[in-house]
Amino acid sequence: MENGAGTEVSSDLKKWTTQEADSIYGHSRWGEGFFDINDKGHLVVLPNKNSKDIQIDVYEVIEEMKAQKLAFPAVIRFHDILRSQVKNLNRAFREVIEEAEYEGRYIGVYPIKVNQLREVVEEVVDAGSPYDFGLEAGSKPELLAVMALNTNHQALTILNGYKDEDYMRLALLGRQLDRSMIVVIEKTSELHTLLRLSKEMGVRPLIGIRGKMSIKGFGKWENSSGDRAKFGLTMAEIINVVNTLKAEGLGDCLKLFHFHIGSQISNIRAVKDAVNEGVRIYSELYKMGIPFEYFDVGGGLGVDYDGSNSTSISSKNYSMTEYASDIVYGVKQVCDLAGVPHPNIVSESGRAITAHHSCVITNVIGKIDPANVAFSTRKVTGEHVLVANMRDLDEYLSEKNMQEVWNDASKLKDDCLNAFQLGVLSLEERAKVETLYWQIAKKIYLLAKDKEQIPEIFSSLFDLISSQYLCNFSVFQSAADSWAIRQLLPVMPVHRLDEKPLSSSALADITCDSDGKIDQFIGADGICKTIPLHDLKDGEDYYLGIFMTGAYQDVMGDMHNLFGRLNEVHVFADDDDPTDFYIEETIRGSSSRQVLSTMQYNPDFMAATVKRSIDGQVKRGKVTPRQGVKLVDFYEECLDSYTYLSMQYNRQNP
Ligand SMILES: *Cc1c(COP(=O)(O)O)cnc(C)c1O
Repeated sequence: MENGAGTEVSSDLKKWTTQEADSIYGHSRWGEGFFDINDKGHLVVLPNKNSKDIQIDVYEVIEEMKAQKLAFPAVIRFHDILRSQVKNLNRAFREVIEEAEYEGRYIGVYPIKVNQLREVVEEVVDAGSPYDFGLEAGSKPELLAVMALNTNHQALTILNGYKDEDYMRLALLGRQLDRSMIVVIEKTSELHTLLRLSKEMGVRPLIGIRGKMSIKGFGKWENSSGDRAKFGLTMAEIINVVNTLKAEGLGDCLKLFHFHIGSQISNIRAVKDAVNEGVRIYSELYKMGIPFEYFDVGGGLGVDYDGSNSTSISSKNYSMTEYASDIVYGVKQVCDLAGVPHPNIVSESGRAITAHHSCVITNVIGKIDPANVAFSTRKVTGEHVLVANMRDLDEYLSEKNMQEVWNDASKLKDDCLNAFQLGVLSLEERAKVETLYWQIAKKIYLLAKDKEQIPEIFSSLFDLISSQYLCNFSVFQSAADSWAIRQLLPVMPVHRLDEKPLSSSALADITCDSDGKIDQFIGADGICKTIPLHDLKDGEDYYLGIFMTGAYQDVMGDMHNLFGRLNEVHVFADDDDPTDFYIEETIRGSSSRQVLSTMQYNPDFMAATVKRSIDGQVKRGKVTPRQGVKLVDFYEECLDSYTYLSMQYNRQNP
């Protein structure tokens, strides 16, 4: 364990190279070429992937936000990254299609559930328009949004998810507007509703079917396919649907075969297998007389959150180009063998397009460090022998006996706790024992940390004595998957990257939940429970970024502790600007008034109630009228202000 914990690891504040920073934080491994460090030690965004012509200094964006009085935590969106990923995906498929002499085209869609923010969807549609890149909806409200945004008649609109009559009527309305709206049948009963409504409205639908695949996606979402999958038609159901459509004279409405084996597919093997199974079904159905035009491989294109290029749940073992290649060549091979035409290929890639473009910036507001409390452990006459024993252990400790001392100290600490519960040890004595215990732990850490081989029992000690940085954000709002499924998200400071971080910490958020924390990080060799961070300086804020939050995290937030949405800025690159960027838009996060209203409170009524109580105290002479007015104003101001802590580190420190 290289990045151990501790407080004073080394006193030399030696300069740190960007390579050293990269080896710990790994931005060149997870950043897809969009991130780098400049000579000020600041993290920069390279909107033109891998090219240093334009560099957006994240710390300068933060300074500009402060000048605009935007409080932290905040989301920063780099729209250029979003556009770049749309292009990269389309180009990857186009290049492979050309090279393979594949006869269909790639015509992808962006599933808006991954990030429905209007500006995000609009940017994707705009960047995708040269490629006729379309949209996918999975619910009625998403369809309403998609209908308004996807006005390109060449682009597809694909409708997944369970559908009621209104959902289908909207789809048929889309057909009346000449949109390429394809209703994907997820279960047989949907077909009957669709046929009835299409007769009623006199509109011929475009229909897709979702197959229930036997191949599983490997990883967190593997249950999106397989026998117990929630969605999709079995082979028998598919044949029944085909026969029903033919009998109704609507066989030629069936345009698309779809499957989705799960998101964040970490192993390319699963993609190959699913494509193979899918295209076999497609070609058999084609031969049954269904003139399919589209072969839709769903989502699943993964991103490398931990930068390990492996099959771990937070990674993937393939590139975008390999993904496109395996699909295009896989489909071509089976079609050629079966003698059926090459279909147009659709993918519903959401995560890969949006993950990198946004990050959450949080300011560190303090440190939780049980091992660092100043407390006198001086010997007093008549003290309990347990206290004396712990002090002896502390004095006895040396490099030779640290394992023995650590075992004894741990046991002794438990004994002391029991003694305290039984009323044998006083509160003051317990405090002394615990202080001595932490002292021993820290000394062992300093003795052991540079050893070639660190005994196993010390790895838990290292985690134990590491501090936690208290960060102004809510895991539940901003990094839901890190809490829910232990997915790793990259975290790193956005400045001071030319300075060696002297200690390692985990991150705690400001919610009232003990699991509101991040304690999984990319380490130099594998996942660590702590991350090396810089000491906090008086009078200076310390900003950490949580990266790759653009897919799902941005929109899955909840109302836990009523923190609500974050302040947000949308940043665009501009080569002509001295800073290489401009903030195009700022969106204010939630005020307390807003989050309370969504929970059915009436903030005006609340303010009136509090005012009445204050007025009562004024009448009783407990509060002066002048104070009373101030208190009422203060309560109302709080209702209208940002929900997160407005405290800054430099003000908290005495
Ligand atoms: C969630 C979902 C997607 C998006 O998957 P990504 O892995 O984010 O690309 C695509 N299609 C369907 C049907 C989905 O449910």
